[in-house]
Amino acid sequence: RAKTDGRGIFRVYSPEMGSNMRRYHYLLEELRLALASQNFTLSFQPIVHVEDCSIDYFEALVRWSHPIEGNISPAEFIPIAEESNLILELGDWILHEACRQMSAWYNAGMRKVRISVNVSAVQLKHRPIFNWVMATIDKVGLPAHALMLEITESCFIEASDVVIQELEKLRQAGVLIAIDDFGTGFSSLSTLAELPIDIIKIDKLFIDQANDNPKYNKILNSISELGKELDLKVVAEGIEHANQFELVKKLGIQCVQGYLVSRPETSRNVGNKVLSGNLNHIAATGTGVWLP
Ligand code: C2E
Ligand code: MG
Ligand code: MG
Ligand code: MG
Repeated sequence: RAKTDGRGIFRVYSPEMGSNMRRYHYLLEELRLALASQNFTLSFQPIVHVEDCSIDYFEALVRWSHPIEGNISPAEFIPIAEESNLILELGDWILHEACRQMSAWYNAGMRKVRISVNVSAVQLKHRPIFNWVMATIDKVGLPAHALMLEITESCFIEASDVVIQELEKLRQAGVLIAIDDFGTGFSSLSTLAELPIDIIKIDKLFIDQANDNPKYNKILNSISELGKELDLKVVAEGIEHANQFELVKKLGIQCVQGYLVSRPETSRNVGNKVLSGNLNHIAATGTGVWLP
């Protein structure tokens, strides 16, 4: 038996593939059950301004705690949810839950921080994106400007004109749009001028390479310059070490996300840390500890 792997690469059947297929079908069934029993939670990771380490926004990241397997990474189950369209139901829950949580924080005084939600290509294709988002924020009473959507670069490449128009309508309503995992999707740089976006999130890959490889360093610098020219905010993902922080600071990148600042946290921890201190300006020390 032979199969293409979705990227058109021809593969001969191997035993390893058999076990991958078993895992796939197992997780697919388990995902269905988990959706029915609402076995998901959200974690929140702060993205901070390089200048003063104040929080710009929180990225909502879905977590699945499986009764037997323990925590299963979204990097493993999100693609399965996408291929099976289960991401539609899961994504509805994620958007609603992220907005509900942000609305509670907003009402508790967290006014300058936004919530950011990852949206996948399947959702853009099957949900009337403008009405879906507006209805959700209306329901939980969240102002549009407190919400941002993260859409991967590869997703933008596939997006139809209708989807692009829907996203532009959302922007006009005040919702921010970020291009996620930028640099991995092979879009031409000129499309940046056409896309309805406010923020560029540079993929962790570039950060990982930048201190050792001058070419990556130069690419980072160019993206940073381009961001300034096009009036887009630039975020560097995956900052783990102080020297990476220093580098992106030197390159003029405005915001960072990474374990150096904070790992994704439970809503409860965020509430305790953020709401106990100065509500709008929480300093991160660069060692993973937040100062109130
Ligand atoms: P992403 O949207 O690029 O999210 C950033 C990922 O990088 C998160 O992984 C985050 O925990 C991780 N990360 C942040 N800082 C660091 C760091 O310093 N070092 C390292 N090694 N990793 C860091 P996570 O939560 O495992 O999510 C992986 C991917 O799964 C996400 O990448 C996103 O593509 C997808 N995903 C997660 N949650 C959702 C969701 O709610 N909806 C959708 N559609 N996709 C999601
Ligand atoms: Mg993201
Ligand atoms: Mg990302
Ligand atoms: Mg990523």
